[in-house]
Formats: sequence, structure tokens, C-alpha cells
Amino acid sequence: MRFDPEPQPITETDVEIAAALAEVDTPPLLAAVACLTGDFSILRDDLRPTAAESFDPTAGISPEQATAARRLAAETLGRYRDAGNVPAPPPDAETIRRTFEFLAGAPVEDDYATLMTEELAIDGVDRRAPEWTVDGLATGRSFRVGIIGAGMSGIVAAHRLGQAGVEYQVFEKNADVGGTWLENRYPGCRVDVPNHFYSYSFAQTSEWPQHFSTQPVLLDYFRACADEFGIRPQIRFETEVVDAVWSDEHSVWNVTVRDGTGAIEAHEFDALVSSVGQLNRPKMPDIPGVDRFAGDAFHSARWDESVDLTGKRVAIIGTGASAAQFIPVVGEVAGHLTVFQRTPPWLLESPNYHDDLPVGVRWLLDHVPGLAHWDRVWIFWRSHEVLVPMAAVDESWDSPNSVSLMNDLVRGVFTEYYKAQFPDPDLFAKLLPDYPPFAKRFVRDNGIWARTFARDNVELVVDGIAEITERGVAMVDGTEHEFDVIIYGTGFQASSFLTPMTVRGVGGRDLHAMWDGEARAYLGMTIPDFPNLFLMYGPNTNIVINGSIIYFSELEARYIVESVRMLLERGAVSMDVRPEVHDEYNRRVDAANTQMAWGAAGVNTWYKNASGRITQNWPFSLLEFWQRTRHPDPDDYVLR
Ligand code: NAP
Repeated sequence: MRFDPEPQPITETDVEIAAALAEVDTPPLLAAVACLTGDFSILRDDLRPTAAESFDPTAGISPEQATAARRLAAETLGRYRDAGNVPAPPPDAETIRRTFEFLAGAPVEDDYATLMTEELAIDGVDRRAPEWTVDGLATGRSFRVGIIGAGMSGIVAAHRLGQAGVEYQVFEKNADVGGTWLENRYPGCRVDVPNHFYSYSFAQTSEWPQHFSTQPVLLDYFRACADEFGIRPQIRFETEVVDAVWSDEHSVWNVTVRDGTGAIEAHEFDALVSSVGQLNRPKMPDIPGVDRFAGDAFHSARWDESVDLTGKRVAIIGTGASAAQFIPVVGEVAGHLTVFQRTPPWLLESPNYHDDLPVGVRWLLDHVPGLAHWDRVWIFWRSHEVLVPMAAVDESWDSPNSVSLMNDLVRGVFTEYYKAQFPDPDLFAKLLPDYPPFAKRFVRDNGIWARTFARDNVELVVDGIAEITERGVAMVDGTEHEFDVIIYGTGFQASSFLTPMTVRGVGGRDLHAMWDGEARAYLGMTIPDFPNLFLMYGPNTNIVINGSIIYFSELEARYIVESVRMLLERGAVSMDVRPEVHDEYNRRVDAANTQMAWGAAGVNTWYKNASGRITQNWPFSLLEFWQRTRHPDPDDYVLR
């Protein structure tokens, strides 16, 4: 996969160019064509999307406006071809801002413009890269960082530390990079955030084959990034961190690792980064008898490829984001598939979910690669700014299945989709959620859910499970279903952050004992009494409906690298977040989460811990996380 390939010269006729533009969203198209050709006059007021209508798939653009925009873009590309295919110089900051404001349909505040310019990276400038190096600081001090995990977060942490010239060592329990994208290999696994957004801002590519790529493509991307940025030599594969203990005497982390042979080794680091993810320890359900089943049984994140499901009687327990992807595939091969659903997911209509990029869009990305960049910020803007208010609780709104008038309107739109997809009233009643939209992660659907449950060999069971038996699944009503195979799509131990490692901080304090199931951190990253320890994708940094986790990881990596800089520049050996800063921040997070659909609704989710508190989600804007993590505030920390 190539990052930021050069535009291919256009040799096609006017008619061929016009045909290629038929299926692309016009705001990013006009923005990308303007940047390639230097003709910004095409960003006409009468072709702007309407900010307020961004949830509407048309973004307030009428068919006539779309036709006019495509014609204008085609003519501009024709002139660019006739003039010899000479790309314009990269736009300056003010031009990028004006172009973004065209796309957003409204003026934006300064911070937002800066954030978007970083995300866009249309000029090839990696604005989140550290602007300093260890050599440049010339402190004469060496500083080593340990990184736990070489998944999506670990790769960006390693890359950023490497750019600053900070020595680092990564430990990865698996034999390759990729984390969740390496471990989750179930059939049908793919990303549910469009790839032009679900990718690093500093490693953008116009070569994604689909809007939502499959797991092997994602894994290739992360492998390519690890190679491109020279990270692999610093990774110890098949090596798991067993414990990490802070030395009060020497102000270092003593880390014990176990390699693939079982050999134990000791390492010492000035700072430690945990990038172990939230969704990497499979959770088996708390149903009695899970060990009793005599047939084959496995969890979706440990898919057993040796088990041939063809013609078999298969049970799938769970209908979350993972199961929703493999249920249709299993339904095609199993002799009989029984799906056990406890809570139905909200389906989000996504007609192009499994589609290859249209031929015209593929052509455009080859010839106008900036389209991938503008598509990125287009997705960012539309998914974030518009969706979050729809999840906000109106305390005066009194309904068990929506949290505000706006949320109820969304419920209405979603329900219409269910009516169209499931005309059978029985199936409709079983599949329509009774909880508010956005209280759980939605499941993208291109009609495959309805096609799957319309199959003669697929059955949906919504009654309570009593236990797993030797033969299959026994129900609360006393009936028993017999199976050859049981597949658990029952999620992950997401609230058990950093398990099964032991982590001891100041005075030997045990992190898990201190948390006691209530994982908290300042900005999701730092914890009082655990100096120089940084968590990536830590507590309250997950998002439910908007954004991409890669965005959070990039910003966390910047904060970590800037923290190393702060330590070096100030001649400090440790930084320890002040308890009052940490506590006040967490009070605010907790209060805000109760005001969002995922915190207010009583429905089960992996966002809540055993006590029902939201330990996973960030309740504020994406902009706020950016503003708060650009660099550490020294006043937030005790520096020693
Ligand atoms: P999940 O969302 O936690 O879903 C687990 C499923 O198992 C739910 O349907 C749950 O029912 C059911 N379940 C759990 N215990 C049960 C029990 N004792 N009896 C009956 N049913 C039980 O896990 P997931 O589907 O693996 O997804 C986790 C997260 O991973 C997603 O939210 C998403 O963030 C991420 N993910 C992303 C992608 C993607 O990008 N494409 C794909 C997959 C996953 P209840 O709802 O009633 O608890």
C-alpha cells in the first residue's frame, strides 16, 4: 500500500471524466479538484452543503446542485489535463481553512481550522510530528520508553517517539503487529468507520479498495505502517509484559516480560506506555455450563479455522458489532444456524458497506488523490458535529426509548428502516430495539441482516438462555437446542483495563487493587501515584457514534511525546498527576456521561463496568480532546 501517491496524469476524454464523477460526494470532490488545479473559484456559494442538514445523506445538496458541481469539477479537470496535468502548489493555511469552511457549510473557529488542517495533511506536512528531538534539546540525558503492545496505538506511539529520537522498546505478545486487527479474523470482519477516516493522518492512502475495508486489508495497512516507519526492529514479538513496578528510589519502571519460550527477563525504562487496547481479552458469557458442551466451541476473537461449519448445526450467542458481521457468513454455510439474541442492535442504513469503491471513484482517487484527504475531513465533520447532539439527554424528555426530541426523531428514521427491512411483524418485534438510539454501538447494515433472517436455515431466538449443556443450549422455558458448534460473539473484558498485568506504582501501590473495578485516569492517560505511566485508549477515551479511535491514539501519542519533552527540558525525573486534577476531571467526565444516551439508558453495554458506571466513553467533543492534549500542562503534575 502506497502512502500519498502522486496524481496520475489525466488522459481521458471529457465524457470519460464526467462519467467518473457520477457517484462521488460533491463537497470533497470540489475541494480536492480545487487543490489539485489551483482553481478555488469552483468553491461557489451556491454549491455549498448546508451545515445544519449534514445528517441528511444529501447534506442539503439538491440533485440540481450536485449535477452542477460535478459538471464544474469535470470541466476544471478537463482544463487541467489540457494544460499538461501540472498540479498546483500545496494550498496555504488560509486557503485550506476557506476550503474547509466551504465543505463544512459554515465558518469554523480557529482551533477547529487548525485541527482540520492537521487531519487533512493535504500538503504532505505531518503537523502532529514532534517539533523537537532529544539531540536538539542537548540535555545530555538518555531517556528510554517501554511500549506495551504493537497494535494501532503502539505503532503511532513508537513512530512519534522515534521521530523525536527517543529510545524505545516495544513488547508485543503476538507474533506480528496489528493488535485487534491481527486477532479478530472471523469471517466478515471489517472496519465500520470509513477508511479514509480510519487511518493515520500521517499515513493516508488513496488505495483502499472499499469504503469499509476487510480485516486482511486493515492488517496489511498496519503492517505497512510498521515497515514504513521503521518500527519492527524495536519490537520484541511473542513477548508479554507480566508486571511493571515503579522504583521510588531510581524513578524508573522495572518491567518483567515473558517471551515465547517462557523465559523471564527484566527491563528498565524511564517511562512506560500501555497500548494494550480495550478489546483484546475475549469475554465468555456468564452462562452456567460453558465448559460442558461436548461439540466445538470458540469465541469470535479466537476463531477456530479448523472447524468446518458446512452443513453443521451452529449456535451463535450475541448480536453485537462482531457477531453481526459473521452471522450472515455463517448463515450461508451452516446446515442450520440459531442466533441467540439478548438485546437487538440498532441498524444504521449503510448501502455501500460491503461494496468496492465505484470504478469512477477509484479513477478519481488515482488522478485526484487529494480526494481521500478531503473525504477524511468530510466524514469527520459530518459524523461528529452532527451526531453528538443527537445523543445528548434532555432532562425534561420523558421516554424509556429516546433521550430527547432529536433522539426520538432519529429513532423514527431508524424505525422506518426496520419497517421496510422486516415486513414480518414477528421478526420486526424481535429486532426493533426498545432503548434509545446511540445508547449502544450501532451496526451498519446494507440489507444483509434482513436477507440473513429470511433464510430457511437461520432462526432467531430471543428467549432467555438457562445454561449450556453437553448437547447444546437449554432455555429458561425448559426446551433444549442441540448443536454441533457454539460460537460466542459475546465481546471483550473491556472494563478490566491493563489485565492481566500487575502494575505497581509509588510505594508498591497495586493499580488494580486501587481501581477496584473503577478504572480512571486523567485524560485517559495518567494516574496519581503511577508516575511516567501513560495509557493509550485508556479509561473514557472510547467513542460510541462519532470519530475514529485512531484520532484519539494520535493525540495521546502527541501528549506522551510532549510529556517526555517536558521531563527532559525541566530536568525532572518524574511527572505524577495531581490527585485533585485527576479527581475533578473524572467528576466532570462522569457527570457528562450521564447526560449522554449511553450513560442514561439502562441497556447493557460494554461501556459500563460492573457497578454501571461508564468507564469507556469520552462524553465531550473531539475538538475538546484535541485542545486538552496538545501538550501537558505542568501545573497538572508534580514534577520531581
Ligand atoms: P459486544 O458489543 O460487547 O457484544 C456482545 C454480544 O454478546 C451482545 O449482543 C451481548 O448481549 C451478548 N452477550 C454477552 N453476554 C451474554 C449472555 N450471557 N447471554 C446472552 N448474550 C450475551 O461485543 P462485540 O460485538 O465483540 O463488539 C465490541 C466492540 O468492538 C464494538 O462495540 C466495536 O466498538 C468493536 N467492533 C468493531 C468492529 C468494526 O469496526 N467493524 C467490529 C466488531 C467489533 P447484550 O447486548 O444484551 O449485552
